[in-house]
Amino acid sequence: MSSAEDLEFKILAHPNPTSPERRAELIANPAFGRVSTDHMVMIRYKEGLGWHDAQVMPRGPLTLDPSAAVLHYAQEIFEGMKAFRTSDGGIAIFRPDANARRFRSSAERMAMPPLPEKLFIRAVDELVKADRDWVPEGENASLYIRPFMFANDAFLGVKPASEYLFLVIAAPVGAYFSSGAVTVWVSETYTRAAPGGTGAAKCGGNYAASLLAQAEAKENGCDQVVFLDAVNHRYIEEMGGMNIFFVFDDGSISTPALTGTILPGITRDSILTIAREKGMTVREEPYTVDQWLADAKSGRLTETFACGTAAAISPIGAVRTKAGEVKIPQAPGPVAMSLRETLIGVQRGRVKDTHGWEHRVV
Ligand SMILES: *Cc1c(COP(=O)(O)O)cnc(C)c1O
Repeated sequence: MSSAEDLEFKILAHPNPTSPERRAELIANPAFGRVSTDHMVMIRYKEGLGWHDAQVMPRGPLTLDPSAAVLHYAQEIFEGMKAFRTSDGGIAIFRPDANARRFRSSAERMAMPPLPEKLFIRAVDELVKADRDWVPEGENASLYIRPFMFANDAFLGVKPASEYLFLVIAAPVGAYFSSGAVTVWVSETYTRAAPGGTGAAKCGGNYAASLLAQAEAKENGCDQVVFLDAVNHRYIEEMGGMNIFFVFDDGSISTPALTGTILPGITRDSILTIAREKGMTVREEPYTVDQWLADAKSGRLTETFACGTAAAISPIGAVRTKAGEVKIPQAPGPVAMSLRETLIGVQRGRVKDTHGWEHRVV
């Protein structure tokens, strides 16, 4: 028997795909996550049988038993990554090996069977190939790829499930935030992750728990929430779905260290690498919200930006707390813009890729 990573994909082409005219219309102005491509990938897992039945198939609804474990105990993980049109007309995915590795560690934390990293990458490749015409042209556009896995046992007992579905879906996207700098709310009411918890795993449950904090941010006129640590309620951790960087007047940059309560962002890691190569001093260290506000007021801090796959780098223009609002001196600032230019340049094939980050599909 061949190993799971060499599993053959059965290709079931969509019998009635979206017409080129309609597709062009949808791609031209896609609201984030609303438009989807014609196909999806599905691979099944069953205890004793392992990973099997890999298919590229027409995208469509799933049928679940009402006692499917995921609906009750939230055993679910996901990934988010992008495929880009490169300057030479090809298609490349940015660092899928890093997503495959993180998916494996998320699975381990949630007591789920790890999907072999090679199989994860092949699954993503198969979908991008099937839906290659959905990868948009244009500077801010890309194909957002969403791999995910969930417990599919029809059983109400609490235990790790014995059956899982792994799927990959995709959606053409434009810029994630409509306008330049965002205003953020520092939540003093809610925390995102505690030591020993699931903060470093990319699981749906973390997001369910963050929605009320995000609503609190909106009520206070902000775009996004910033979470503080769950022990001291002082140290900045991350946003609901993005990591955070600080830029100082001596040219150095810092970001909170990965202590187990922060999601290890691939954009975060890429920025750390690019910044070091640009000769910047880079620190991964704790930073309190009080210090942040004081440094923004004094001008010792010049910029703050959020980062993640969806928005790449997103400048933060102002911070609100219960005590009031503090402006960030530069938003967008030159450091965020320079890092963004290089990151997007590598993704688009305009800047030389010295790290093997680009994974060519076509
Ligand atoms: C996905 C995610 C990020 C960003 O990770 P990237 O790999 O850069 O997209 C940051 N925080 C949370 C909570 C996330 O789920």
